[in-house]
Amino acid sequence: MRANPIKSTIDLDGPGVRHGHLKLPHSQDGSAWGAVMIPITVVVGGQGPTALLTGASHGDEHEGPVALLDLARTLKAKAVSGRVIIVPMMNHPAFLAATRTSPIDGGNMNRAFPGKPDGTVTEKIADYFQRTLLPMADIVLDIHSGGKTLDFVPFAAAHVLADADQQARCVAAMEAFNAPYSMMLSELDAVGMYDTAAEDMGKVFVSTELGGGGSVSASSAAIAKRGVANVLKHAGILDGDPEIAASVTLDTGTQGCFVASGDDGLLEMLVDLGDAVEKGRPIARIHDVKRSGAEPVTYHAELSGILAGRHFPGLIAMGDCLAVIGVLK
Ligand SMILES: [Zn+2]
Repeated sequence: MRANPIKSTIDLDGPGVRHGHLKLPHSQDGSAWGAVMIPITVVVGGQGPTALLTGASHGDEHEGPVALLDLARTLKAKAVSGRVIIVPMMNHPAFLAATRTSPIDGGNMNRAFPGKPDGTVTEKIADYFQRTLLPMADIVLDIHSGGKTLDFVPFAAAHVLADADQQARCVAAMEAFNAPYSMMLSELDAVGMYDTAAEDMGKVFVSTELGGGGSVSASSAAIAKRGVANVLKHAGILDGDPEIAASVTLDTGTQGCFVASGDDGLLEMLVDLGDAVEKGRPIARIHDVKRSGAEPVTYHAELSGILAGRHFPGLIAMGDCLAVIGVLK
């Protein structure tokens, strides 16, 4: 297979702390011989495993960049047993545009795996992670949140995997992250995901959804920072035990957990994130925005649980994810 054109401006192996870029040549109207420059920090200490930490796979999700820029600035090599590779803004072009997908090629980083070395910008970044960074890693943490169109209760997630031993190691790392909620996630569409790429290589993988709406709250930033430190402690890369508080375990494996909108209109949620919902309870109404005097369409919970996620903007369209109901385990 063709070599990937991305070059790291820093050595990823030798001891010490280095800040640099993943440099991807990109010829475009504003810069004929220009490059996409994706910030990367590597911290290498004594013997130990490698953690690969990423944020902003989607450019409008900001908890990851807040927590990982903080870590990159403060982590010292002497505190590390092993290696920490930090890419706070994985889809850097999307992050700069504050959009989910890349403004260069429309690429959705978390649907672009395994990527292509001779593909679009997003596919080249995916290929670099697939063939260069992921193989270096023992444990992989990818911090997501809802972005501009979704909002979630803050949760860390693990997937149901064919290999029970690997799944147990992923669940242990999810529990170590220790978000207020811990989710056994069944993906709507797992093809092309970074998660799947890492899991298929046998890595310990943790994902998160730590809020949403396209911004960061004080509490969601604090959850992200504590979770990152906890995962590094769990891996034995940082000294000490993870700080563990109560976490509610949820599951989305049942029919009816993902509620899709069948209507266009004005969204009125009837329950808020974290609220308990009983099967049959009205959870949202969608109002007709083309006329007054019309009855809204009411959506009811198909099962009991808590409201774990919701459409964020006030207007909603047919096919949008309206709500996610997490079932208490
Ligand atoms: Zn995301």
